[in-house]
Amino acid sequence: MRRLGYALLALILFIPLKSVAFSASDIATPDGEIAFGNSWLRAMRGQLNERLDPFCIDLLETWLTRLRNQYPLSNIPLTGLCLESHQFNAFAVPGGIIGVNRGVFSDLASEAEIMAVLSHELAHLSQRHHYRQLKNSEKFSMGTLATLAGLLAAVSTQQEQVAQSLIIGGQAAIKSQALAYSRDFETEADRIGLEALNHTGYDPSAMQRVMNILAKKETKIGQNLIFLRTHPLSLERVSDLESRLRQLIERERFTPVMTDIDFQLFRCVQTEGIEAPFRVTNPDPCTQVQQILSKYRSKNYSQAYEDFKNLPDAAQNSLTGQDLMISIAIKAGHIKRAIEGIEYLSLLFPSWITPVIARIDLAVATNQTKLPKEFRDIATKRPMRLDLWLALNRFAKHTKQQHLLFEARGWNALLHGKIEAAQRQLTQAIEHWPKALERKPLKRLRAAIKIAETA
Ligand SMILES: [Zn+2]
Repeated sequence: MRRLGYALLALILFIPLKSVAFSASDIATPDGEIAFGNSWLRAMRGQLNERLDPFCIDLLETWLTRLRNQYPLSNIPLTGLCLESHQFNAFAVPGGIIGVNRGVFSDLASEAEIMAVLSHELAHLSQRHHYRQLKNSEKFSMGTLATLAGLLAAVSTQQEQVAQSLIIGGQAAIKSQALAYSRDFETEADRIGLEALNHTGYDPSAMQRVMNILAKKETKIGQNLIFLRTHPLSLERVSDLESRLRQLIERERFTPVMTDIDFQLFRCVQTEGIEAPFRVTNPDPCTQVQQILSKYRSKNYSQAYEDFKNLPDAAQNSLTGQDLMISIAIKAGHIKRAIEGIEYLSLLFPSWITPVIARIDLAVATNQTKLPKEFRDIATKRPMRLDLWLALNRFAKHTKQQHLLFEARGWNALLHGKIEAAQRQLTQAIEHWPKALERKPLKRLRAAIKIAETA
């Protein structure tokens, strides 16, 4: 019964990508990789258990952008996925997709450490390890990109058993190592990641600290961690990194995106409700923050707001502090404070989606019927951000604007790979679209559906 269940799940994972009929040579070029990544994300979206926290996604993409100049990534866009899983895992998918579980923040205690993880993942992408592994491995035959997609699906959703059943059921020759990068690729990703970390102005020894954390986990829980299965640790790998660190000429250090207190606060928010042992820093900032969160969750907004004002100034004024404050202030009716926070964030990070979504939630809270003008601008630039369309959906429902509701549903369906449903929503949106209103948004949705159809 269990086996059948997994087999069915495996089938579900396969279906959307099989119809795409990729072959390994299709990811031989950057454009092929991008197309693969887009299809993969559309097929997987419903199962990823994404954490649609705009702040987390913006931050992750800011970190990735800081690193990207160090890699030959051609025109590949970088897409960050924040995921709900409590397990330590991060993964890369061809086409520039990097996923990070919130569980990593139980262990990673500084921005340099998460950057070490990201720089390693980006190295797998820039060195095209998926493609090279697929091409070189006798275990794979050409034309089994669907298998790669399935394996990546298993890695990202931690369905170890699914991966195993794909391997056992699909191709007898493929052993469980098919999930893992080869030892050479691991060493290469460490080497390139270390250089990138150093050149981006972070403490390169953070990479060694991450490796030590993983080594400890390995002895504690055996080989069950999917991150360790896909990025196998070996004595060679550890000693190689150590010797490289000794020889490294340290570059100038740059200011990280977050101050230390900011990063600690961010960890507190991300690890809310996770019972894993937390690498505590001194003093422990989480108790207060998680109390504020719990009041917020139980809709005790005014008390959450009062408690927030009792945090140290440095915490309140941090990015995480501002993001937290905006959400609480909107709900507690402190509109002026919320607007100040939104303007602060959008001034610091003009490309961030967090402040735009906050403006939409503010419009909902204050019963505005006019869509914030910032929305169209950012939706044109970043239409693949699911959180943006969910915000439009909230706004459309609250203001009872059918045309916007159909538009939001259309994008939501499209980003989940439901192309026919997206087309139906588009037809409805066209029908309900007010005559006086600009029709560019409809054209954009139609064009995006067309691209997905022909991918
Ligand atoms: Zn690796």
